[in-house]
Amino acid sequence: MRLRCLLVTLIGTLSLATGAVHAQSAGGGGALAPRAPGAGASPALDTEAPRANDALALAIYRELVEINTITATGDTAQAAEAMARRLRDAGFAASDVQVFKPAPRKGNLVARLRGSGARRPLLLLAHIDVVEARGEQWQTDPFRLTEKDGYFHGRGTSDDKFMAAAFVANLIRYRQEGYQPQRDIVLVLETDEEILDADAMGIQWLIAHQRDLIDAEFALNEGGSVVLKDGRPRWNTLQTSEKVSVFFKLEVHDAGGHSAVPTRSNAIYRLAAGLERLATFEFPLQLTDTTRAWLDQMARIETEPTRSDMRAVLQPSPDAQALRRLSASPSLNAQLRTTCVATLIEGGQATNALPQRAAATVNCRLMPGTTVESVRETLAVVLAEPAIVISPIGVSTVSDPSPLRADLMAAIESVSAEFWPGAPILPTMSAGATDGTFLRNAGIPTYGHSGMAMEQGESRAHGLDERVPVGSFYKGVEYLYRLVRRLAGPT
Ligand SMILES: [Zn+2]
Repeated sequence: MRLRCLLVTLIGTLSLATGAVHAQSAGGGGALAPRAPGAGASPALDTEAPRANDALALAIYRELVEINTITATGDTAQAAEAMARRLRDAGFAASDVQVFKPAPRKGNLVARLRGSGARRPLLLLAHIDVVEARGEQWQTDPFRLTEKDGYFHGRGTSDDKFMAAAFVANLIRYRQEGYQPQRDIVLVLETDEEILDADAMGIQWLIAHQRDLIDAEFALNEGGSVVLKDGRPRWNTLQTSEKVSVFFKLEVHDAGGHSAVPTRSNAIYRLAAGLERLATFEFPLQLTDTTRAWLDQMARIETEPTRSDMRAVLQPSPDAQALRRLSASPSLNAQLRTTCVATLIEGGQATNALPQRAAATVNCRLMPGTTVESVRETLAVVLAEPAIVISPIGVSTVSDPSPLRADLMAAIESVSAEFWPGAPILPTMSAGATDGTFLRNAGIPTYGHSGMAMEQGESRAHGLDERVPVGSFYKGVEYLYRLVRRLAGPT
C-alpha cells in the first residue's frame, strides 16, 4: 500500500517562498470578522462569533472523525451511512442519497441537491478514509475529536474530513434555506483514496459503475489550501494538475563467480556507474499553463533575486543561469521539470561471491503530458549502460491538467477576497497525487480547493497529532458554502 498525501506535498511545495507579505490585511479576519483580530493574530485564536451552521458542521465533523475509517482496517461504509442518514433526516429524498458498498466496510456516498437544470452539475468530492494512526504515539485519541490549544485534533481533521464535513453541513443548510441552484450539486464521499491499488473501490469504482450519476461540468476536490504566515493570509491555492508518480526497476544480471577472481562485468559496479550518471542529470525545463501562472504570481510575492530569476525563466528563451539558481531549491525544482531519483538499492548474494544481480528502484515524477515510455527512453540514454534493464513497476495513471476556467477563477477571487483579502489565488501543480487524476481522465475537470487555512509548513496530514485551527474550520465551512453557491448560481 502506498500512502499519499497531497496536503503535505502542496504546502511543502509552497514553502519556498521567502518574500515579505505585500498588500495583505492584518489578521485572518477580513470582511467576515466583526472583531478585527490584532496584527499577527494566530488563526488558532481566531474565535469569531458562532454562525448559524457552526453547531451542525461541528457535530458532523465530530461524527466523521470518531468513526475509524483507516483504509485497510476501518469502516467507510459506516461513515457513508451516517452521512446519508443526516441528509435524509434533513429532507433529501431517499433516491437522491445513495450509498454504494462495493465490499464489506467499504462505502461511497453519492447525494444530490437538485437544481433547475439550466447548467450541468457541479461535483463536490471528498474522501472519508484516513491513513493509519497509532493512538499511543498521539497527544490525544486520534479517533476522538478533541479541541485543544485552539485546534481540533484527530485523524482526518485536515485530510480529508474537513471538506467532507463542510460539504455535508452546507448541503443541509442549502436545503433548509430552500436554495435552488441552477445546476445540480452532486456530493461524493469516497473510500480508498489513500491507496493506489488498481482495485481501489472509491472514485475509480464509481467511474466504472456509476459514471452517469456523478457526471458534472467540473469538480472541487482536496488539494488546495490557504497558506498563512504568522496568521496572515499569503495565498489561496487552486490545484489544477498533478505530477504522476512512476516507479522503474533497474536491473543488471551477471554470471557471478568467486570474489577472489574479480571480473570487469561486476553487476554492482555497472549499476552504480549508471546511477551516478543519473544523479547529475536534470530533465529539461517544462512549464504548463498552471506552472506559468504560478511562477508569475510567485514572482510578485517573492523578493530579489528570486523574483527576477522567476521572470527570466518565464521568458521565451529562459535564462540558463536563472534556471540553475531556481533549481537549487528542491521544492521549486520539482515544479520546473520531471524528476527521477533512486530510492531503493539491492544486490549481491554472498560476501565472498561476485554479484549475480544488482537492482535499484527509481521513482520518477512526471510533468503532466509526459509519457512513461518517453521517460524510460531518457533513462536508457542517461544510464548509458546497455546491461541495465529498465522496466516500469505497475501501471501509472497519467492525466492532463484541468484548464484554468475563467468563471471558476472569478468566483474564487471574489469570494476569497471576502475572507482573506489581499491573498492572491495561486494556481498550483502538486508533486503528489489525489483522486483528481481519475476524474480528469474521466472527462471531469477537477480543481483542488478547500478554503482550509493553515500556517505554512504546518500540515500534519498523515502524521502525528493531525489538527486544524478551530477558527480555520468554521471559516472554511462558510467559505465553501459561499463559493459553491456562487458556482452553482444564480449569483
Ligand atoms: Zn487526502
